[in-house]
Amino acid sequence: MHEYSVVRELLAAVLPRLEGIDGRIQTVFLRKGELLVLSDRALEAAFDLLAEGTRLAGSRLSIEETGARVRCPACGYEGPAGRLADEGFHVAIPILSCPQCQGPVEVRSGRELVIDRVEVLTPEEASPAAGA
Ligand SMILES: [Zn+2]
Repeated sequence: MHEYSVVRELLAAVLPRLEGIDGRIQTVFLRKGELLVLSDRALEAAFDLLAEGTRLAGSRLSIEETGARVRCPACGYEGPAGRLADEGFHVAIPILSCPQCQGPVEVRSGRELVIDRVEVLTPEEASPAAGA
């Protein structure tokens, strides 16, 4: 499954940066481009499995979807991709055509997966009774 290799790379990037940081890792915040075809649920399942036995064991993955941005070479439009909101599907599907002239567009962003931040609970916060 694609999500597993994605999460594996993610952990390989995050774990070295956590060395020397005290405390318990609470949450890993991700930003996922809306054009990236990855299932949130599969990412979370892969994270739970692969985090086992690492500093990240027991922490949570939080995935925030970010909108795609496109550029139209024909009219110069640059901004969010158009969306087709279909009541029948209950989702808004990004349409990769220019919202102004309906021409084909270049995708500027929307296919990235970025580690936004990692929430760490310091030892003091983890046990509020200590030192009281
Ligand atoms: Zn255009």
